[in-house]
Amino acid sequence: MNQPYPTIGLTPVAASLEHEQEQAIYEVRQKIYPRAVHGWFAGWRVFFVILTQLIFYGLPWLEWNGRQAVLFDLAARKFYIFGLVFWPQDFIYLAVLLILSAMSLFLFTAVAGRLWCGYACPQTVYTEMFLWIERKIEGDRPVRIRLDAGPFSLQKLAVKSTKHALWIALALWTGFTFVGYFTPIKTLAAEVTSLGLGPWETFWILFYGVATYGNAGWMREQVCKYMCPYARFQSAMFDRDTLTITYDTTRGEPRGPRSKRIDRHAAGLGDCVDCHICVQVCPVGIDIRKGLQYECIGCAACVDGCDQVMDRMGYPKGLIRYTTENALARGYDTKAMWKRVFRPRIVIYAGILLAIFAVTAGSLAMRNPLKVDVIRDRGALAREAAPGVIENVYRLQVMNTDESPRRYTIEAVGLPGISVVGVEQPLVLGPVTTRLFPLRLQVPLEMRHGADHELENAGTHDDERNALEPGTHKIEFIVRAVDDDKVVRHEKSSFIIPR
Ligand code: SF4
Ligand code: SF4
Repeated sequence: MNQPYPTIGLTPVAASLEHEQEQAIYEVRQKIYPRAVHGWFAGWRVFFVILTQLIFYGLPWLEWNGRQAVLFDLAARKFYIFGLVFWPQDFIYLAVLLILSAMSLFLFTAVAGRLWCGYACPQTVYTEMFLWIERKIEGDRPVRIRLDAGPFSLQKLAVKSTKHALWIALALWTGFTFVGYFTPIKTLAAEVTSLGLGPWETFWILFYGVATYGNAGWMREQVCKYMCPYARFQSAMFDRDTLTITYDTTRGEPRGPRSKRIDRHAAGLGDCVDCHICVQVCPVGIDIRKGLQYECIGCAACVDGCDQVMDRMGYPKGLIRYTTENALARGYDTKAMWKRVFRPRIVIYAGILLAIFAVTAGSLAMRNPLKVDVIRDRGALAREAAPGVIENVYRLQVMNTDESPRRYTIEAVGLPGISVVGVEQPLVLGPVTTRLFPLRLQVPLEMRHGADHELENAGTHDDERNALEPGTHKIEFIVRAVDDDKVVRHEKSSFIIPR
């Protein structure tokens, strides 16, 4: 008999096992035809689809202060979010946002598993939208299965073309909206209608559109199963008091079909009628009755599907439900289960999250709209500008993050007689502008002796009196808004007195 695979160094049994493993790894994907489902959790999923997409598609069209309310202007390196303008120097807020997102994910996952995946993840949301179009055009699960299995026909071609045309339109609109967060969307729309799109804008609209079409239309559950790293490490955040979607084996088994009229207990049956509705509605095609599996995205479609069956059978709902491992094992009632859900770990996560949020909100509310960077001119460190006058050269980068123009004064302190020269005061900065101001600081050397004398008379210490000795001295720039004393920046720098 021909060996279909090499067996070098392997017994036939071992080789057969190797072959089976190989087959399992490269198993051809079975297309999933999720059945439509209605119910409490399906309602929440629809709610989150509408909410997230109203925000995503709507936000770029909102105006604020005569500009796009939310715009990430990469070219100008400014991020506008309603009344706030972020600069590269505000990178800390991005770090805080990432920390807040990670902490929220930990919190929600510890409370109720993959809530994010099931209700708000873009992959879930777009798959829901694409599935909705598919159902409207092709029909529900049995019709779609029959259509795919049937021979080619003009009607099939028309149905499939319509579906794909709608998918592509939605994907391109999504790509357009995405790019509209980085390029003013009204300009982008005008460029699209006049066929004047730039090459990068065209590339990103198509790239994001193709990604949406491919992920939500074709890849679907494979993105969650094979590409998303979150599915792999989520179990590390679960414990025995985490709410997960679980099939109640004690109540459901032994499963089996039966007439609605028979007494299931007398017939020795559990509540599961083995109708497979929970499998048919599952977007990742798993059977939750086999226990918690990493593929489960926690969408609760099986909960709604099974509840409908329980209703029809006249059995209590909740054969598949959100519950915890401890609640099932120890038979907790709902109150006891929820009490344990809010365990110390959750309280700590929530406390940290609230604290970071409060500090960030406070810091944003009290954000100083003036930023100053002092840059020493290394080409001309120190020189004698006039007999007895030492001069150092600087450049001050002044940023006005306010959306109204501002005027500022600059002064320097830290050395006797120090003065700012070479810059016209007040500095005038337009709204949301940064400008570089070259300037010089001058210290009259004769002040050294005068100052020493004054300091001696005032009874000051030796180290203060020696502050003007040759070497590097600490000084401070004070930049202050003319119209608002509270808008002020103190920036430390140094002044060099040569030998
Ligand atoms: S098993 Fe249930 S909760 Fe998990 S993905 Fe399938 S339908 Fe959703
Ligand atoms: S939907 Fe409910 S009754 Fe039907 S097979 Fe699934 S668990 Fe059993």
